Amino acid sequence: MRIVRYTIGDQPSYGVVQGDPGSEWIAAVAGDPLYTQVSGTGERVELADVRLLAPVIPRSKVIGIGRNYAAHAAELGNDVPERPLMFLIPNTAVIGPDDPVVIPSVVTEASYEGELAVVIGRMCKDVPVEKVDDVIFGYTCANDVTARDLQQSDKQWARAKGFDTFCPLGPWIETDLDHRDVRVQTRLDGQTVQDGSTSLMIFDIPTLVAYVSSAFTLLPGDVILTGTPAGVGRVEDGQSVEVEIDGIGTLRNPFVRR
Ligand code: MG
Repeated sequence: MRIVRYTIGDQPSYGVVQGDPGSEWIAAVAGDPLYTQVSGTGERVELADVRLLAPVIPRSKVIGIGRNYAAHAAELGNDVPERPLMFLIPNTAVIGPDDPVVIPSVVTEASYEGELAVVIGRMCKDVPVEKVDDVIFGYTCANDVTARDLQQSDKQWARAKGFDTFCPLGPWIETDLDHRDVRVQTRLDGQTVQDGSTSLMIFDIPTLVAYVSSAFTLLPGDVILTGTPAGVGRVEDGQSVEVEIDGIGTLRNPFVRR
């Protein structure tokens, strides 16, 4: 099921995306599917007629995982971590499909990082690896936008990863996905710059969710970014980035300088 959050006027609504690429439509549902059983309202709207919003605004946190693909760690001159490397992104960084990523003037080098994002479905702590599927609501595409210069100079990653608009999510949450070998591609102005598979992760998704939940209580709507494949690079004012994940869809965002 593809759960979408959208608006036609002012009010955000939720729905289930139906149909094939290019002719999708939305079956509206009552309430927020993260918290209530999905039940249709009977209303139907064309996907092309709505504005998509971030499919989830995390109430408490986005957890990022750094250096989870060996080739990406190597391209930035880093060793592979011995255990998952976690950082936090404030929920104010989250934006939706087609929303502009705003590069602040203090940032010299902004970089894209296409990633598979895990959306948590229920409150949990200390989840055993074999129970992780029970706490996952679904999966979406993410761009873990990074101020590479500030990441180096600040040492802490809070600012480099956490500026407003630096965490695009979307276009919707796919609740049924075999996450073990999924192609993750990133395009910069239409040119493929990242082309990886989740099979290349150092720590797989069950390991990551179990590990993160050993540190933090996870709440419904919390998001875990699972790391980026090799091929990260600079993105400039006026360019656009697409993150496409097989079995989910494509998240596109323009970049502008403030
Ligand atoms: Mg990342």
